[in-house]
Amino acid sequence: MKKLTSVLATLAIGAAALAAPAAAQDKGTVGIAMPTKSSARWISDGDSMVKLFTEAGYAADLQYAEDDIPNQLAQIENMITKGVDVLVIAAIDGTTLSNALENAAASDIKVIAYDRLIRDSGNVDYYATFDNFKVGVQQASSLVAGMKARFPDVKPWNVELFGGSPDDNNAFFFYDGAMSVLQPMIDAGDIAIVSGQMGMDQVGTLRWDGAVAQARMDNLLSANYTDKTLQGALSPYDGLSIGILSSLKGVGYGSGDLPMPIVSGQDAELQSIKSIIAGEQYSTVFKDTRELARVTVGMVDALLAGGTPEINDTKTYDNGVKVVPSYLLEPVSVDASNYQAIVIDSGYHKAEDLN
Ligand code: BGC
Repeated sequence: MKKLTSVLATLAIGAAALAAPAAAQDKGTVGIAMPTKSSARWISDGDSMVKLFTEAGYAADLQYAEDDIPNQLAQIENMITKGVDVLVIAAIDGTTLSNALENAAASDIKVIAYDRLIRDSGNVDYYATFDNFKVGVQQASSLVAGMKARFPDVKPWNVELFGGSPDDNNAFFFYDGAMSVLQPMIDAGDIAIVSGQMGMDQVGTLRWDGAVAQARMDNLLSANYTDKTLQGALSPYDGLSIGILSSLKGVGYGSGDLPMPIVSGQDAELQSIKSIIAGEQYSTVFKDTRELARVTVGMVDALLAGGTPEINDTKTYDNGVKVVPSYLLEPVSVDASNYQAIVIDSGYHKAEDLN
């Protein structure tokens, strides 16, 4: 009977919720600061969050800063002045927000670091992201698998390394994850980094700029590969991969007797999925931004209700002041063999957009 009563009570609550859905915008306002619209993933992140926050009864103030640090700072300061209840921030430079977040804390505004860790601040409450080390492991593993398949008789494989933006904490996790796979192979003589350029200080790409990666690949090729061929390039992001591939095509790779080197990537951006289908880029890493948005909305909901958000990592993300409690989602390695199942059948991209 007791059980029945509680079932009935639950049904009654459910019915009440159905009859009177929370009016949009009555649970508070969320300020969402995204880095740039120049990469499709951040547009998808922003769109998913606005949709989910609105459905959950929040007002959302979404701003993009076009990779300009002072611009992002001004947007965040402005959100604080307007009195948002919580800030969700994907930082351009993860080290430049300490003062702004002091002000947020003084106004009792909660802060969630979105995808990228905010460093050097005690005022970051939670971090929603993917397993960033694993992203790097997946990039390097697919690079090696691709070289095994395309260049079975070459030893050592000649490889060049590209890193992400050195002001983005993620870039170090991607690089370290990748090197956990590649360094033992370098030590064993299976892989040669012909330029000798290694370490984030030498291979980093400021602001994740594809043109910078393309220019660096041009230089690497002319300085080191006049009498050698390249078999692989570790690329941490699709936007860089496209630049690297342009450089390679420019000197004849991918035609005649010069097979295209294996090039990795990240974000499953449309252009890269097309490139994978065309046999140019070898792989990418899919990170479902819809899921990241869902986790973030859940965190905000719990926080503002005075509860504790669900987390699954309390050790990895030390931002220099504190270890930020985190929720890590799983990245998925994608290549020609599984893109259909992972990015099309899941609805992330539409099949007709691939034409
Ligand atoms: C994100 C990646 C993205 C890169 C460039 C990183 O912080 O985690 O998904 O490829 O920024 O936008």
